Amino acid sequence: LHPIKKILIRILKALGIYHPLQSRYRRILLQTQNKKLRRSYAGYRGSGFTCNFCGSSFSKFAPRYPKPQDRPALDRNKVIAGYGENVYCPECMSTSRERLILAMLTSMNIRGKKVLHLAPEEKIYRIVKSNCLVTTADIMPGFYSTTDKHIKYADVTMLPFADHCFDIVIANHVLEHIPDDRKAMKEIYRVLNQEGMAILQVPFSEVNLFTIEDQHINDPKKQSALFGQEDHVRIYSLQDYLKRLAGSGFTVDYTPFESLGDFYKYAIQPGEGFIRLRKK
Ligand SMILES: [Zn+2]
Repeated sequence: LHPIKKILIRILKALGIYHPLQSRYRRILLQTQNKKLRRSYAGYRGSGFTCNFCGSSFSKFAPRYPKPQDRPALDRNKVIAGYGENVYCPECMSTSRERLILAMLTSMNIRGKKVLHLAPEEKIYRIVKSNCLVTTADIMPGFYSTTDKHIKYADVTMLPFADHCFDIVIANHVLEHIPDDRKAMKEIYRVLNQEGMAILQVPFSEVNLFTIEDQHINDPKKQSALFGQEDHVRIYSLQDYLKRLAGSGFTVDYTPFESLGDFYKYAIQPGEGFIRLRKK
């Protein structure tokens, strides 16, 4: 980063407006991208995939590719991380991983439930908000201020909530960022009530038997090269991830992609199964 840019960022952070600005900037960028996509995919409207957020159908959705510096690690470990063909809905920019979550939420009865939504994705938040009593929280709340201005500060390894106070916790693609992920899993388990369930999808490798991680690495370049994203701290092996969840107390029920046939029409991510986590 340019030194002047660095200083500017530091000032904006000190003023507490860096993340809110980023949030707004990201929204404008997305809207611009969305306009372009609608135009360029107009000819693909019709049968094929249907977006469960906006109801639009297209014979293909838009692709999403990883950054060049992230790709080698993702390819080498065959990580299912939300990239590939048919990721973005050209009409509303929903992503394949969001459509999977929505499909699962729709298949459950969520009306009136108490939900904790961490790192709240706007589209999922809006659906949950219209059906449930939702609390949002993140370690960088400002980053989500355009989604929910009441978002709370929370460290997922020390959640500021009482035991057993939520029916559902959603932390989609969060744990791969957290150094002490087992502590975070236990915290999520703690705040769930006895009938509660959690949605904690992460990127994972089905081919690796072991999770790749090194607590000493704290350098975006190395993290890209090793973990496939500059702010990830590991690449989970699916097998090991499920084991860690079970070790934190969860009853783990994994539905592999091959068994999600009903949802293929929503252009969900090939290879991404659904991990249903219950307290008991
Ligand atoms: Zn859509």
